[in-house]
Amino acid sequence: MGIGARITAIFGLGALLLSISMGGLSYFTTRHFLLAERESAAQHQAFANATLVRSSLESGDTQYADLLASLDAGSDSHSVLIHRSTAYSSSLSLSASSLPSRLRKEVLGGSAATQTYRTDAQAQPQIVVGVPIPSVQAAYYEVFSLSDLDHTLRVLGLTLFFAGVVTTLLGTALGRFASDRSLRPLAGVSRAAVAIAGGQLDTRLASEAADPDLEGLTTSFNAMVDQLQVRIEREARFNSDVSHELRSPLTTLSASLEVLEADRDNLPPRAARALQLLGDDLRRFQRMVGDLLEMSRADAGTGDVSLEEVNVSELVQRAVDAGLRSLGDGARVPQVVLGPDVHSVRVGVDKRRFERVMANLLENAANYGGGATVISVTSVPKADAGADVEIAVEDAGPGINPMERSKVFERFYRGSASGRRGTGTGTGLGLALVAEHVRLMEGRVWVESSPSGGARFVVALPVWTTDMETEADGHAW
Ligand code: ADP
Repeated sequence: MGIGARITAIFGLGALLLSISMGGLSYFTTRHFLLAERESAAQHQAFANATLVRSSLESGDTQYADLLASLDAGSDSHSVLIHRSTAYSSSLSLSASSLPSRLRKEVLGGSAATQTYRTDAQAQPQIVVGVPIPSVQAAYYEVFSLSDLDHTLRVLGLTLFFAGVVTTLLGTALGRFASDRSLRPLAGVSRAAVAIAGGQLDTRLASEAADPDLEGLTTSFNAMVDQLQVRIEREARFNSDVSHELRSPLTTLSASLEVLEADRDNLPPRAARALQLLGDDLRRFQRMVGDLLEMSRADAGTGDVSLEEVNVSELVQRAVDAGLRSLGDGARVPQVVLGPDVHSVRVGVDKRRFERVMANLLENAANYGGGATVISVTSVPKADAGADVEIAVEDAGPGINPMERSKVFERFYRGSASGRRGTGTGTGLGLALVAEHVRLMEGRVWVESSPSGGARFVVALPVWTTDMETEADGHAW
């Protein structure tokens, strides 16, 4: 059970226990009070009638039916008179044998008694008062119906039951509200953590708006992010400095190499071969330094992202042309397939970054998959709102096995296919940079299997909306 559910359950349970105890207390106190009152009224009436019966019998009156009829009995009471072992009743439904035997014994023993009873489980409750009249060898019983009291108590019980149900529901609703309120600050913490994980290192929790009870959490969370930011920026700066420092000697080396290469024909074969190896490694090294520099800029958040609104089909065509140009004359020319609804679709991209992404994917397709076969552009509606444009680069090579698909976007990851390449200039940074560029353009990239079993790299970019225009204008990248 989550914290929210637990708080709600505790409130609900608390309200239920409170309703049961308060309802029970009210019911039994009221019942006790009403019953005691009714008992004392019944005794009062029975004693008054017994006095009347005694004086009539003492005066020798034996008109029992008239005597019983003349007594002061309300509509809900009936009398039984036992005179010299003969019973007389004011009601046909009441006889001496239906009186509780314990009470009769007590009255026979000479003392007055009162008892509440039911003739059977379904019958209405009744109260009976027995008064001995020893002077004339008689006993007088008066039976009172408690049906009105029973009805009152039933209504009271029902009312208290519904009040209890309502109180429990209200308690549960209050618990829900309280749990929502108390968990709201944690939702802020989780949002901030997601933003930080997504690269927005300047995200902090607002300390002035923080709940005083959560001040400790806010302070330590912000302190942790401060430290994290300092560390990441220091590392990115270090990478950037190292790459910068390496660039100048590499430029000198490459210039010197060019001089040597110009004179290659005059070199002995072994020296020419060594020069070839040196050249390959130097170019690879230069490329790695360039990629590292770009990566450290992205890490430090110093690389600018300037989103522009462009037509997606023109953008893709231009980027593919540029990518193929950099691959050289022998490169395979892929087929560009535009979906039916993408001709007029516009996306917000940083053109330089997009061209880097396409160039990288085309180069990988050439290196590992025999060249890109198809570049497709399709518009895909999103579940929430708006749409994405998916630009896919397919090849007919060996593809990437499912276990490797998320790893290929990691830095310095060189998959199993890299062993088969001929050029040997890979650094393992290409796809990591692709992922970084796409992320900065608020898109997503993934790899799947192409219809021919090769690799299919998909870049999804959000379709341009007017909100992005304001965001692009005011964004501090
Ligand atoms: P690099 O190309 O420098 O090795 P990348 O980050 O560009 O680094 O690619 C990482 C790994 O992903 C490559 O080493 C390769 O194994 C695999 N890979 C990338 N593109 C493809 C592709 N089109 N087909 C098969 N494997 C690929």
